[in-house]
Amino acid sequence: MSEHRHDENCRELAARLSEYLDGELAEDLVRDVDEHFHACQRCEEFVESLERVRRLGALLPAPAPAPERRKALVEALRSKITSGAPGSDGVPDDPGASEEPP
Ligand SMILES: [Zn+2]
Repeated sequence: MSEHRHDENCRELAARLSEYLDGELAEDLVRDVDEHFHACQRCEEFVESLERVRRLGALLPAPAPAPERRKALVEALRSKITSGAPGSDGVPDDPGASEEPP
């Protein structure tokens, strides 16, 4: 159990995330992702917030959610994970981040 490998898993997870959420991921990869969530609170919270947004989008009787918007969201969150310093788990505010909440 090394921190380094853990961080690497986070990156892999971020790369698969949109497929995972779309249910397009192969079953064994889904299992990988699920296992990672159990072990990594940072990613678990991250995906929970993402799923909440998706659910809201699905409930709205509005025009189909723009895939580009979702893509942008996934990428914003992905960069958050991949740029997060190891050991800063649970700290949502990154003083170095230049992104602003909507
Ligand atoms: Zn993780």
